[in-house]
Amino acid sequence: MLWYPYEQMKTMKKPYKIIKAEGVYLYTEDNKMIDSVSSWWSTIHGYNNQEINDAIRNQLDKFAHVMLGGLTHEPAEKLAEKLKEILPGDLDYCFFSDSGSVAVEVALKMALQYYMNQGQKERTMVLALEKAYHGDTFKAMEVGDDEDYHFVLKAYGKSQNVIHIPTDIDALDKAFEKYHLKLNCFIVEPLLQGAGGMQMYDISFLKRARQLCDKYKVLLIFDEVATGFGRTGNRFVADLVQPDIIVLGKSLVAGYIGHAVTVSSKKVFDAFYDNSKDRALMHGPTFMANALACTVALKSIELFEKNDYISKIKKIEEISKRELKDFTDERIKEIRIMGGCTCIEVFDTKDLQGYQDFAYKKGVFSRPFLKYMYSMVPYIITEEELVKVFQTMKDWFKK
Ligand SMILES: *Cc1c(COP(=O)(O)O)cnc(C)c1O
Repeated sequence: MLWYPYEQMKTMKKPYKIIKAEGVYLYTEDNKMIDSVSSWWSTIHGYNNQEINDAIRNQLDKFAHVMLGGLTHEPAEKLAEKLKEILPGDLDYCFFSDSGSVAVEVALKMALQYYMNQGQKERTMVLALEKAYHGDTFKAMEVGDDEDYHFVLKAYGKSQNVIHIPTDIDALDKAFEKYHLKLNCFIVEPLLQGAGGMQMYDISFLKRARQLCDKYKVLLIFDEVATGFGRTGNRFVADLVQPDIIVLGKSLVAGYIGHAVTVSSKKVFDAFYDNSKDRALMHGPTFMANALACTVALKSIELFEKNDYISKIKKIEEISKRELKDFTDERIKEIRIMGGCTCIEVFDTKDLQGYQDFAYKKGVFSRPFLKYMYSMVPYIITEEELVKVFQTMKDWFKK
């Protein structure tokens, strides 16, 4: 039996069975719907992209996968070079893994060992944000702040090694003042906190974080698993404020194959670079730098650059603002829009119950959670299709 994610198996609603997917559309036996969540925010070019398909087929004829321990191959080498080229500053050292959660684990391990390697054993703490989500593995859960995982807090109690603060500059200043000698890193989802409810905050917070991290020699980690490749309207938020480590996932592989990467700056890499094996990064997911995944990522980045996706995303943002301008309802607490992400937050979770089926009947796939109705559309969406996504949202409140 198939065990579904984030579901009470006893009471869960029957999932829609997909038999075909093309462009922005998902097809069931008797319906066609726009995927307004891009398969968990990853399918930026839509489904069944011929250029990506062809690239995979070509690589498949050579080999699908070889381990990266003791072996290497062109797709991995090329992708590392490409990421080095497109990421800002000296974010040049790419460590691949099979999912965003694992790539976050790698980033946190790097930050801890960065100091251990320099003999600073007291820096065992991590600063993180309230409402953060960094994945479902254990350390990622610990730095996250998601009420769905509170059973872990109940089981273990709050971690002594993680501090959570709101996205508020005073709180940030205070946390650094108090904990800076013990912190190895500050990890954030920059500008847009996804699974914590599409929370958006200002760049000034990140600029201040960069200053404090420099002043107190704490590593700044951007978890751009969700925000990378344009979601906030910026190619990477790292283009605005430079982190020491960046984590990419989700749209890195265009929604095709699970893969992610942790990219470090030279300073971080150099702390591991030594004659002693004790200073090496001891990590190695079986499927890291999978050749098919790297091939997809290379093609995806090529399409992203060639087709000027940043302008497409700006257009999506404009249309989103236009369509939701002045839209209000007594059940709505706030409407938030940033780049290719829109969120309607309601006061009561009950106000969204039944929305998924309502949207399905109108030809839109949506997956609201808690108090959040949102869209994270594929960037290839047409204006007409996007308007339909918002019309469906508005119709729900009008019915
Ligand atoms: C989805 C997500 C992750 C986890 O990625 P997986 O590939 O699902 O393990 C980590 N961080 C952020 C910000 C995410 O949105």
